[in-house]
Amino acid sequence: MYKDVISISSHLKLTSKNIYDLAIQVGFDDCGIAPVQRLDNDAQFMDQWLAQGLHGNMDYLERNRDKRYDPSVLVPGAQTVVVCILHFDKSGRDYHRTVKSLLYQLEARLKEEFGENIVSQTHQHIFCDSAPMLERRWCVEAGLGFIGKNHQLIHPTLGSLVHPGEIVINLPVITETTPKGHQRDTEGIPNHLRVHDGFINNTCADCQLCLEACPTGALRSEVWDATQCIAYTTHHCLECQLICPYNHH
Ligand code: SF4
Ligand code: SF4
Repeated sequence: MYKDVISISSHLKLTSKNIYDLAIQVGFDDCGIAPVQRLDNDAQFMDQWLAQGLHGNMDYLERNRDKRYDPSVLVPGAQTVVVCILHFDKSGRDYHRTVKSLLYQLEARLKEEFGENIVSQTHQHIFCDSAPMLERRWCVEAGLGFIGKNHQLIHPTLGSLVHPGEIVINLPVITETTPKGHQRDTEGIPNHLRVHDGFINNTCADCQLCLEACPTGALRSEVWDATQCIAYTTHHCLECQLICPYNHH
């Protein structure tokens, strides 16, 4: 957690609201921030999941676990994860390229406003669909939504058809309520409630549509079994997202 708040020489204060505004200006649909921490619960869950072989042929998930669970191991000096999301509608066919291009534009704006040292000079600190970051979890930590029964991030207004991208920065950020009223400050909220943080009542509740729509039954087992999921094995499948009411606003 942050020990102090650094005064920045630029005219802008390094707040979540100002970062949010810059992210929206470059073209993202939403943005939140989360203080860097080791994701202990996720580490425990993933270690068990990997030990059971439920990750199928995604061998890369077995490597660099310390880096994946703790961004400060991945990027020395890391203090804050800036998480941005872009809806499928805007990302085009090559979403990596689109999201990364926006992240680089945002990085340039952050450097302009807050100085070059806001990001690491030596380590990769921009990520999009990259194994070293637990992206969905960081989206939740940043107050961007909750994890649905389809195991996707569900943003309350954008739904689950979004691509996330992250910039790990080396300064602490003052947390403010964003213009949309999403309370980004998750400090002190128990983990079991965090998934609903800021989105009270925006949960799956009694809905089971994705469980029923999944052609393989991958979502019915108590523990997520990637080996049963078409999207994770060989073929493209979006059934559990297309059926989701959050994608039909
Ligand atoms: S098989 Fe398709 S519907 Fe089932 S969990 Fe995987 S992506 Fe979703
Ligand atoms: S389809 Fe229903 S149960 Fe599945 S993720 Fe969406 S809201 Fe949750």
